[in-house]
Amino acid sequence: MKTQMSRTIRVTILVENTAGGRDLLGEHGLSFWIEAGPKRVLLDTGQGNVLLGNARKLGVGLELVDVIVLSHGHYDHTGGLRDALRAERRTKVYAHPAAFRPKYARNMNGTARDIGMPFLDETKIRERADELIWTNRPTEIWDGLFVTGEIPRVTDFEDTGGAFFLDEQCQEPDPLIDDQAMFFEATGGTVVLLGCAHAGVINTLAYVRQLTNNRPIHAVMGGMHLVNASPERISRTIEALQCLNIVHLIPAHCTGAAAVTKLQKAFPRQCRSGTVGTTMEFEGHNWIPPEETTSLAPCRLAGLGDHSELTLSRSRRAVTTASIASSDARRTRQSS
Ligand SMILES: [Zn+2]
Ligand SMILES: [Zn+2]
Repeated sequence: MKTQMSRTIRVTILVENTAGGRDLLGEHGLSFWIEAGPKRVLLDTGQGNVLLGNARKLGVGLELVDVIVLSHGHYDHTGGLRDALRAERRTKVYAHPAAFRPKYARNMNGTARDIGMPFLDETKIRERADELIWTNRPTEIWDGLFVTGEIPRVTDFEDTGGAFFLDEQCQEPDPLIDDQAMFFEATGGTVVLLGCAHAGVINTLAYVRQLTNNRPIHAVMGGMHLVNASPERISRTIEALQCLNIVHLIPAHCTGAAAVTKLQKAFPRQCRSGTVGTTMEFEGHNWIPPEETTSLAPCRLAGLGDHSELTLSRSRRAVTTASIASSDARRTRQSS
C-alpha cells in the first residue's frame, strides 16, 4: 500500500433509518458522504427518497461527487444512484458485478419481493457514469481510500442475515458475494465503513485486518446486519469486537435495535448509533511500514476456525499490502 499524505477525512451519514436533526429525513437505507482532500466519494445512495434533500440540508454538494461506491446491490443502497449520477461532473462507479444480479427476499407467507437495484441497470450506468469499475478484489479508489472487494467468509457464526435469493421462486440462495466495505488509514488505526455487512461484520473486519497487515481498527461505522441475528450470534459478535479493541463503534441501518442496545451495553464509551447527520472526522494517516505494526497483541478470535491466526495474529502476514490492487492497474472494463 502506498503512502497516504496526512489530511482530514470527513464522513457524514446522508441516508439512514433515523434522522438526527431538524428537516432531515430518514428511510430504510444507507449512504455515506466522504470528503478526502479534494475527492468527494459517495458510499451507497439509500433508496432514493431522501438523498437529495438530506444532502441539501447538510450542506453537502452532491453534484461534486467524483466516485460512487456500491456496497452491494440491494435497493436500499442503490436506489438513489439515478439521482446521484445526475451530477454535473462525470463520476466513476465502483461495484462488484454480482450487485447487478436479480435479488429477492422471501416474505413470511412464502411469496418473494424484489429487493434488487431499481431504476438503473449496467447499461444505463455505463451511459451515465464516466466509468463502471468492477471490484471483485481489494481496490484503491483514491489515494488511501480502499474498497475490500469480495470478503472471505471464515467465521462459523455469521451468515448473510436473511432469506435472500437470486430467483423469484426462492430456490437459489443469494450468497451476496457483492457485499463489500470501504476502509482507510487514520491516526489510531483503520476506519471501516460498512454497507450492510452481509458477509458478516467480523468476517469484514478480519479481512480488513488481513489486508492492512493487522493494523488496529480505530472506527467502524455502518450496517452490521444483526437485525435478524440470534442472541448467540450477537454475543459472539460482541466477543469478537471486544478482542478487536475498537475505539469508535457507530452501528447504523440494519444493525437492529436489539443488537444496538447490546453493543451500547458492552461498549458504553465507544458505541453510539449513527443517524442521518452523524459526522466523524479522522486524521488521514501515513501508512506505517509492516515492521512497525507489530506492537499489536495477538488476537485470536473464537469461531474463525483455521483462519484465526492468519487474519488476526501479528505473527502471520500471508497477505501483504501488495495484494491490494491500485485502481489504475486493476480496473477492468467489461462490455454490457
Ligand atoms: Zn442488503
Ligand atoms: Zn441495507
